Amino acid sequence: MRKPIIAGNWKMFKTIAESVAFVNEVKGKAEVSGVESVLCAPYTNLPALVEAVKGTEIKVGAQNMHWEENGAFTGEISGVMLKDLGVHYVILGHSERRQYFAETDETVNKKTLAAFNYGITPIVCVGEKLEEREAGQTKEVCRVQTEGALKGLSAEQAAQTVIAYEPIWAIGTGKSSTADDANEVIAYIREVVKSLYNEQTAEALRIQYGGSVKPNNVSEYMQQSDIDGALVGGASLEPASYIALVEGA
Ligand code: PEP
Repeated sequence: MRKPIIAGNWKMFKTIAESVAFVNEVKGKAEVSGVESVLCAPYTNLPALVEAVKGTEIKVGAQNMHWEENGAFTGEISGVMLKDLGVHYVILGHSERRQYFAETDETVNKKTLAAFNYGITPIVCVGEKLEEREAGQTKEVCRVQTEGALKGLSAEQAAQTVIAYEPIWAIGTGKSSTADDANEVIAYIREVVKSLYNEQTAEALRIQYGGSVKPNNVSEYMQQSDIDGALVGGASLEPASYIALVEGA
């Protein structure tokens, strides 16, 4: 039985004080038994957030990390630093990072491997652009990105990885994939994992849908056979909306 996971991606939003106030509002509410709840915040907020969620079921995630442990990489943050803070998750290969910061399948793979060195669970994003969808390439794009990200992981590590299927045209646009379409792609990604490893690994690995998920549509996705939660941007920024997302899962 896969435990659903709702992860809020705060992107480049919220000050430290706003993050702590958010946690104080959602405490005890965005904590539903049987659902994992994760807040992925800017680096600057992570220490305060880790402190604020103590004693709750809410976990904290980062939105990126470098694959090296340390070195001359100005402006970067490593897995060992995130682990030091008590961070449990890291989003890797988000489409905004692929688009604006030259993230590739190769760097996503290096980061995914590195995350496991520090006991941090990667949430690896895959998904097609609008023109790829229109050209009928959705599954192929997701296959290549999934294979690229998981390269070199053991079956045990792959089983612990979270994949977020995020069609790029649906992110922050208000246009969401239908639950049936998202489920079809996600079931296909699970088949890809099965072909790379085995059925047990594919059945254990959690795959979220992301792209304009809101409190009023989250349960449609959650009712699908292969969708194990959501990675949510805009609708994760307000406490009431985040609580509704976790409850809806
Ligand atoms: C995201 O940032 O991963 C995302 C899915 O954003 P939104 O929910 O705003 O579409």
